[in-house]
Amino acid sequence: MSAAAFRRIGVFGGTFDPVHNGHLRTALEVGELLALDELRLVPASVPPHRDAPVATGAERLRMLQLAADANPGFVVDDLELVRGGASYTIETLRAVRAEAGPQARLCLVVGLDAFAQIHTWKDWPQLTDHAHVVVVQRPGAALGLTGDAADWAAQRLATDPLSVLAAAPCGAVLRLELTQLAISATQIRALLAEHRSPRYLLPDAVLDYIRENRIYDCVDTHPGDR
Ligand code: ATP
Repeated sequence: MSAAAFRRIGVFGGTFDPVHNGHLRTALEVGELLALDELRLVPASVPPHRDAPVATGAERLRMLQLAADANPGFVVDDLELVRGGASYTIETLRAVRAEAGPQARLCLVVGLDAFAQIHTWKDWPQLTDHAHVVVVQRPGAALGLTGDAADWAAQRLATDPLSVLAAAPCGAVLRLELTQLAISATQIRALLAEHRSPRYLLPDAVLDYIRENRIYDCVDTHPGDR
């Protein structure tokens, strides 16, 4: 089997509270640039490094499914919600690797802001034992790594993503420059709390679901309670 035939899987995790067009455009462009066979959107159960989400896991999963329906390359993966407890990316990568086999090309997609905190993630130096780490530009975010994490990234930094993917199933840090959409879930929740419209920042189907289920109506008074 030629290297080109090995399956290419993107893993894009987050709270997705809610999923928005910044996530979706990133997922689409990464999928195209790396010629991925599938891009898995993985909602966290309990994110270890931030406040609990406002929407429930089931609601965030449903919103992702509504958003992903339009793109056959997107796969919504509930493995972190099913696993429950704190969602550690290293455990997710181990599970995807076990399922996909040793030769599959795994690409962990992280925004630059998330990557800047990577030294706080569980077993972070081992992330590249299971996947390539694909760092995507985020408006206003600087790389900001220092110390061991900066050395770790510099040693693995590669400039030609397609050659890297042809050559190895994991191990590199790749940077991609994508279309910048300065959208955040925080902004969308704030707009909804102020009774302003977030339309065009996220798919209409997701916004309709939010409104029908009044998901962020109590965002000011009960964050993390639902
Ligand atoms: P919040 O505002 O609640 O912190 P968020 O919009 O940052 O949420 P997350 O679900 O926390 O969304 O992000 C998941 C991943 O998507 C992270 O790697 C993050 O860097 C990336 N990401 C979020 N928004 C964008 C965007 N507009 N462009 C590119 N990447 C993004």
